[in-house]
Amino acid sequence: MVCINENKELSYIVGRKNHPEDTVVTIGKKSEDVAEAKIGGGNFLVIAGPCSVESEAQMATIADGVKESGALVLRGGAYKPRTSPYSFQGLREEGIKILNKTRNKYHIPVVTEVMDISHLDQFDGVDMIQVGARNMQNFELLKELGKQKKPVLLKRGMSATLNELLLSAEYIMTGGNTNIILCERGIRTFETVLRNTLDLSAVPYLKGITHLPVIVDPSHATGNYEMVLPMSLAAVAAGADGLMIEVHPDPERAWSDGPQSIHLERFADLMKRVNAIRPFAYCR
Ligand code: PEP
Ligand code: MN
Repeated sequence: MVCINENKELSYIVGRKNHPEDTVVTIGKKSEDVAEAKIGGGNFLVIAGPCSVESEAQMATIADGVKESGALVLRGGAYKPRTSPYSFQGLREEGIKILNKTRNKYHIPVVTEVMDISHLDQFDGVDMIQVGARNMQNFELLKELGKQKKPVLLKRGMSATLNELLLSAEYIMTGGNTNIILCERGIRTFETVLRNTLDLSAVPYLKGITHLPVIVDPSHATGNYEMVLPMSLAAVAAGADGLMIEVHPDPERAWSDGPQSIHLERFADLMKRVNAIRPFAYCR
């Protein structure tokens, strides 16, 4: 692919210029308790799970269901960045414990979001650490995540440019951690009918300019469960290395992001259609 902007980011550590081959990130590495999941360099990966960890029973139902459909990594928020201080803030440390218990029982690697450096020691048992859109430019947090080797799922800020996203990844990389997955999760535009505007051209652009894997989160990008399937298929067609999908057994009663969460049955159908379209996906 011809890089559209011949800009100086190409010579950064995240750039393809000095690292032409795709980076492959392994999640759940060197752990007897979970299966290994790979992404990048032709490895496609779907991360699925609820917006928030709510209970052991909820996580068990979801882990069982999404694993059966082919998801290789389980998500679940314990520390939740909510717009309103009156909204559910997450089960916090208890949520991470439930997530880890589910991980060990279902042998599936897990990812959850960190919101503060001071909480990092609670993340020892998880396989990948998420930096959410609101923390994409929390540079001290990024530096700290660069000092450790656990994979980092770095989500694009809702008003961040692609260069800013790449520079945030560079912060982590300069510390020595190259295990980074970039995530397009929609940006703020003048359009208001959906939660965000999914910037799909970010996928081929990022894939051209960086060697890091790129995934799409159609759930936060649209805020609407009916949009999750079409945008997932579009993301795969555009060449994404994976997807992150919010799934809940009872979306109407979800403690957060119910309107964008899909039922397990809908997720099973999504996985079938994603797999069917994969052979036709754009690749560089
Ligand atoms: C999430 O994935 O749980 C989340 C809060 O997403 P974002 O940071 O993209 O808003
Ligand atoms: Mn959510």
